[in-house]
Amino acid sequence: MSNLAKNYNRKKISFSYGKGSYLFSTDRKKYLDMMSGIAVNSLGHAHPKLVKTIRDQSKKLWHVSNAFQIPEGEKLAKKLCQKTFADYVIFQNSGAEATEAAIKVARRYFYSIGKLNKTRILCIKNSFHGRTLATIFASGSKKMTQGFGHVGGFDHFDFGNHKSLKKKITKNTAAIMVETIMGEGGIKVIPDWCLKELRKLCDKKKILLILDEVQCGISRSGDFFAFEKSKVKPDIVPIAKGIGGGFPIGAVLMNKKVAKSMTPGTHGSTFGGNPLAMAVGNTVMDIVSTKKFLNNVKKSSKYFFLKLNKLKKKYPSIIKEIRGKGLLIGIQLHTDQTKFIKKLIDKQLLTIRAAENVVRILPPLNVKKNEIDLAIKIIDKVCSEIK
Ligand SMILES: *Cc1c(COP(=O)(O)O)cnc(C)c1O
Repeated sequence: MSNLAKNYNRKKISFSYGKGSYLFSTDRKKYLDMMSGIAVNSLGHAHPKLVKTIRDQSKKLWHVSNAFQIPEGEKLAKKLCQKTFADYVIFQNSGAEATEAAIKVARRYFYSIGKLNKTRILCIKNSFHGRTLATIFASGSKKMTQGFGHVGGFDHFDFGNHKSLKKKITKNTAAIMVETIMGEGGIKVIPDWCLKELRKLCDKKKILLILDEVQCGISRSGDFFAFEKSKVKPDIVPIAKGIGGGFPIGAVLMNKKVAKSMTPGTHGSTFGGNPLAMAVGNTVMDIVSTKKFLNNVKKSSKYFFLKLNKLKKKYPSIIKEIRGKGLLIGIQLHTDQTKFIKKLIDKQLLTIRAAENVVRILPPLNVKKNEIDLAIKIIDKVCSEIK
């Protein structure tokens, strides 16, 4: 009997080790990992540079309190700010903590300028911002909030419904918070022109723009941030998943204007930004933020999309749409995807579901061409069997 609570519906597979894009199960099967622990293992498994970083840092220093200077964290914050819109960073340990901190920063900003009633956050219905009490209510999903009472302060509009979005902004709205690319919600990309309009709208209404890049950020989209091409500058951006490459790291990035309100005592985290985590973050950042690495993500993405769109043409009665950007890819099926994903796993390809019948593909960002070919071959086979 398992003593783990039943809050997950776990598959009966366990792994003993991983290498690159592959996972090896305890029953000695080799799986091609195209879910990367849900966009976490951005450099695959047991990347030599990450292994070395952990080994070196673990001999020196794991944890000290944020009561002290932490040079490794200073370094990572500097890199994040040099690469992006941000001026300041607060480190956390997970995505939900990062989005929760983003909400706090938005509210605190308006508090600091004396606009005490501006506390509400406007979000997309059935989005995903994490599993803390506040963030489940931010997500506006019945399934996630059922049985957990009520946390107020969030309003919702439907993805793509611009009329409703504008109508839902009130004098009490502090910020609009959206995922640049909805991950759990079905790999739905907010187009660049929409991001631009969102920024304009926020400026006009004097409210803040929070872009949740926990899943789509850290080079997953082919750019360091998925909003980069739009040239839009958000005020606050929570990140997590990919920045640790498997080590739990979260962070909230923000501009000078809002960061001013985060004075001593307004936020904190015992673990957040500890030297071991920061050492790993620095190594991930050094690898994934280079132009060469990003070009390679774009190249892999182009190839993957080309091949998947061919499969869509070959199996129009099974595949409805290929969605996404970079290496955040969704195969939308005409019917429920559960059986399809199970068949992929039986053929030793790991993917994960998303809403709207989507099979989500999240390979490591350094995935190789022959690994994409293998994934395509397995997906093709499963399509042909279902047909
Ligand atoms: C995964 C995710 C989160 C929550 O991250 P956790 O580390 O699971 O707390 C928040 N926002 C988005 C967009 C995510 O995909």
